Amino acid sequence: MAGMGLPPYDDGNIFARILRGEIASKKVYEDQWALAFHDINPLAPVHVLVIPKGKYVSFADFSANGSADEIAGFMRAVGKIAKDLGLEAQGYRLLANMGEHSGQEVPHFHMHLFAGRPLGRMLST
Ligand code: AMP
Repeated sequence: MAGMGLPPYDDGNIFARILRGEIASKKVYEDQWALAFHDINPLAPVHVLVIPKGKYVSFADFSANGSADEIAGFMRAVGKIAKDLGLEAQGYRLLANMGEHSGQEVPHFHMHLFAGRPLGRMLST
């Protein structure tokens, strides 16, 4: 459910379609709370997207309206995926775009997981 000022959830967004199995993805992990799959246009040797199973348009929506169980389940899944992919030794970066200035393209909350090379500065500009 979207909060004030946030757009309503669009059931036709591409990640909703992946969750429903209408579009294929290269799955990395799935549990009750989260689905993870490889980004179709990877920006690093490891570029995985982790999405909650619930209908949340953005981090703002998820953090405000997700249940404690959903938020804990999602965050634990992100950490578990990074660990299971063997990324803790050399490190990784998590990133979530929210809204216009971030360039968020897909209106279903997702966290990017980048790894596999030195990732440079936090922002390119
Ligand atoms: P954002 O700009 O944070 O909304 O990121 C959206 C990401 O979704 C981009 O990195 C895209 O490459 C990725 N993406 C878009 N469509 C797909 C898809 N069908 N499967 C996997 N990743 C996708």
